[in-house]
Amino acid sequence: MSNPEHPRAPQPPAPQPATSGAFSGDFNLASLVGEVVEAEPVSAQCPACHLHALVAVRLVRDDDGRWRQLDEDEEEEHDARAAGDDAAIGEKRSMLLDTCPVCFGAWFDAGELDLIGDVEVDPELLRTALGDAAARRCPRGHGPMLEHKIPELVRTPIERCATCKGVWLDGDERRKLALASTKEGQGDRKRQLTRRGVIWAAQLVTQLPVEVENPARGTPRIVYALLFIELAGFLLSVAGVFLYRHWSVIAGLIKQEPLHVYTLFTHQFFHANWLHLLGNAYFLYIFGDNVEHMFGRLRFLILFFGAGIFGGALHVLLTRATGTPVIGASGAIAGVMAAYLLTFPNAKLFQLIPFTPIQLKIPAWVYLGVWVLFQTVMALFSAAIDYAWFSHLGGFLFGFGMTPLVLRWRRRQVAREVKVPAAPYAR
Ligand SMILES: [Zn+2]
Ligand SMILES: [Zn+2]
Repeated sequence: MSNPEHPRAPQPPAPQPATSGAFSGDFNLASLVGEVVEAEPVSAQCPACHLHALVAVRLVRDDDGRWRQLDEDEEEEHDARAAGDDAAIGEKRSMLLDTCPVCFGAWFDAGELDLIGDVEVDPELLRTALGDAAARRCPRGHGPMLEHKIPELVRTPIERCATCKGVWLDGDERRKLALASTKEGQGDRKRQLTRRGVIWAAQLVTQLPVEVENPARGTPRIVYALLFIELAGFLLSVAGVFLYRHWSVIAGLIKQEPLHVYTLFTHQFFHANWLHLLGNAYFLYIFGDNVEHMFGRLRFLILFFGAGIFGGALHVLLTRATGTPVIGASGAIAGVMAAYLLTFPNAKLFQLIPFTPIQLKIPAWVYLGVWVLFQTVMALFSAAIDYAWFSHLGGFLFGFGMTPLVLRWRRRQVAREVKVPAAPYAR
């Protein structure tokens, strides 16, 4: 959220010892939002989820006054043009926002909210909103931020740094603020005024894209490779080069002949028909790229095949259909889905209500929670015992167990790569 191309940008204040305790002393609006600092993008670990360094996202204001995010091509074009374009900076038609691509939280440097939002603030209200020291730390290195409690709008406190006056908003806080500001016409006058006062952030947020999307960076090579291998396996078995029966998991056979345990690995490369293959490929594609980005290639491969093998093993142990051959990457992909659930629980997915044109936008945790429930119920009670419910559940369990370990590793890793790590990852 800055304009690095702005000449002679003053530097943000030097890091100071952690500030703690309640905010005190007189202040006016200027003291709250501070001076406008055209700051460099931060180099900080996300203070909320700790899973990613904050990433600068370029936003531009269109002619109709709405802010939107530039895509990558436009960004290059913008950079090429921006060099000589002082007018754009003067009118605040362009800004950099430091956001977290995992949890969608965003860091607003001092004055940025106010500049763009053009909102009047009721100082009395904000005085009462000032709160205690928060656990989260300022991305500019000023130690713990202060919590602002604004219960009229959001239940969770909003964090602000008393030193540099920057504000941190969580992804869901930004959504709720945006929502609240659209209901301003409702309620009595006092309530409206209250809202007006705290909307210093909300109005801004409605103008910005609420979900600053920052999809997985880099090419998900492992996902593409797996998609290719799955397609090749399917085509080769259709062509008769491989007879998938030889490579499929047959529970009864493994129990009799432990040698057949290799099928726990090989059954993942074959599918029964196009529908089976395309369904799996679709889920691998939409969930896999983000998970690969977070895990790294090797860990992603371990997740994928580990989940597939573990799922196959659970199927062998628990299924009632001991003679049915099982093939498919469903168990492995269930592991990827578990990883996605734990890493991006609040990411929004679009889902059509079956047999209707109605499209719902639901959080990943709801979607995947329903999925797990369905698999469990079917595994325990379904008459369709030929379906490998237990291998799906097993794969999901594997992902559920492995992901917290990977995320812990990743938080340490991110802390090492940035200037300002989030507590408690001291260097
Ligand atoms: Zn985050
Ligand atoms: Zn600060």
